[in-house]
Amino acid sequence: MMTTFELIAGHPALDLVNTLDWRFRKEGPEDSLKSYDDLLRFSEQSNILTVAQARKLRHASGAQVLKRCIELREAIAEILYARLDGRSPAAASLRILERSIQAGRFQQQLRWKPEGLEWDWKENAAELPLWVLSISASDLMLSDAGHFDAVHSVRACDNPECRWLFLDTSKNHTRRWCDMKVCGNRMKARRFKAQQKR
Ligand SMILES: [Zn+2]
Repeated sequence: MMTTFELIAGHPALDLVNTLDWRFRKEGPEDSLKSYDDLLRFSEQSNILTVAQARKLRHASGAQVLKRCIELREAIAEILYARLDGRSPAAASLRILERSIQAGRFQQQLRWKPEGLEWDWKENAAELPLWVLSISASDLMLSDAGHFDAVHSVRACDNPECRWLFLDTSKNHTRRWCDMKVCGNRMKARRFKAQQKR
């Protein structure tokens, strides 16, 4: 079945974290990244790979890449949720993020275009989604002080079973739900049910 990803976060690194759905549910989460193909679809839908780039990778052997992407995803998740919950992340998560960013940087090459300089990739290898996501996570999580510091706008959805991450770009920083339609209503329905039971 074709997976359409709910890209509500405002940043690909956060949308990546959200691909593990219901992360905090008692019954356990649901992973929407089940294959390398899913990863390519996610990359294409979140515009971190072009359609042409993704198409070229369709037949690449990506099982290892998927595994490392999920490792990266869980490291990003652990670090960001730790930050939101006011604790320090595990050292192992930092090492995974560090290694991923370093590997991604190593694959970047500076290219001259008439419009100016641009980071490009040395090759269109199976690892491309992993490299792009690593650099994207670095951009989000290590944004320079003085610039708009995106990582301080990262919020988690108020639904305790969902806690999807997003960038709160609302004027007064009042966004509470990943998606009011999907999640807010779901929570309302649950509270209503709980009241009925009493
Ligand atoms: Zn939510």
